[in-house]
Amino acid sequence: AMRESYASENDAGFKQVNPTAGDVVVVGGNGKLGRLFVNMFRLSGYSVKILGSQDWDQAEAIVANASLVVISVPIDKTVVTIERLPKLPADCVLTDLTSVKQAPMKAMMAAHDGPVVGLHPMFGPDIASFAKQVIIHCDGRGAEQYQWVLDQMRLWGPRLHESDGQEHDETMSMVQALRHFTSFAYGMHLQNEDADLARLLAFSSPIYRLELAMVGRLFAQDGELYASIITAAPENIKMFKRYLQNFTSALTLLEQGDKQAFVKKFNEVAHWFGGFATQFQSESRDLLLAAHDRVTH
Ligand code: NAD
Repeated sequence: AMRESYASENDAGFKQVNPTAGDVVVVGGNGKLGRLFVNMFRLSGYSVKILGSQDWDQAEAIVANASLVVISVPIDKTVVTIERLPKLPADCVLTDLTSVKQAPMKAMMAAHDGPVVGLHPMFGPDIASFAKQVIIHCDGRGAEQYQWVLDQMRLWGPRLHESDGQEHDETMSMVQALRHFTSFAYGMHLQNEDADLARLLAFSSPIYRLELAMVGRLFAQDGELYASIITAAPENIKMFKRYLQNFTSALTLLEQGDKQAFVKKFNEVAHWFGGFATQFQSESRDLLLAAHDRVTH
């Protein structure tokens, strides 16, 4: 019966890329993102164990038969948690889901002599499916040995993109830290202006709804996580200051009533965006169309 239910769960899920694998251990697997990966590995037929914050007295037994260990603890506990791991089987793949990559990669390389790959799922636990999502992967060592982990995740639907820790962390400053910080400031401004959100929504056609949603969704989530992402790199604060300078200089143009100077600046930025501007226009149009189709059908 065990065999049957196992097999049927597997049938309802995904093909198991590595059927001879031992356990998949998710450290922090009761957390928001960890739980999602626990489910996906279970749906793919793996035997999954969770090493939670209360389980460290049994840590050696939990990892004894591990073929994959996934670290998914709060960002600021990641490095100490990796350092605390018991010795893993030599061929065990060690990976993490942390939103920053350089520090966890360094810690994983020091803690384990076997295959190491760093991962950053570029999405939160609230996704409806993995399709079209992005997972960044950073090579530590043993690419042939950890290939099955990437192949398994690819079956779930996301696009995998390779990077190194430094490029990843630098790019995240723009992709996540700046975006989340400006959304935070926008939300704080709406609060201080005591904006009537219901009325703003009533006045908003889909493109404005989308923009408001992008800001508002931040505040349905975890302040600790966003504080960690926004302050992940010390350079982020310096970049926000440069952003503020740009904001101020654009404002100065307006205060001076220099409409022509503003238009000139606008055209300079447009020139710099080049073909991406029209690409972004059609991409956002397609997104709104797709959203519209989902609502009406
Ligand atoms: P979370 O707080 O929901 O989960 C963390 C889990 O780790 C909790 O269950 C906690 O009890 C457990 N934990 C804490 N200390 C532990 C320890 N010493 N040993 C074992 N377990 C411990 O956080 P989350 O949002 O799931 O984030 C986890 C990781 O995923 C972080 O590295 C974060 O950067 C990354 N991440 C999160 C998101 C997201 O949107 N939530 C997106 C991308 C990446």
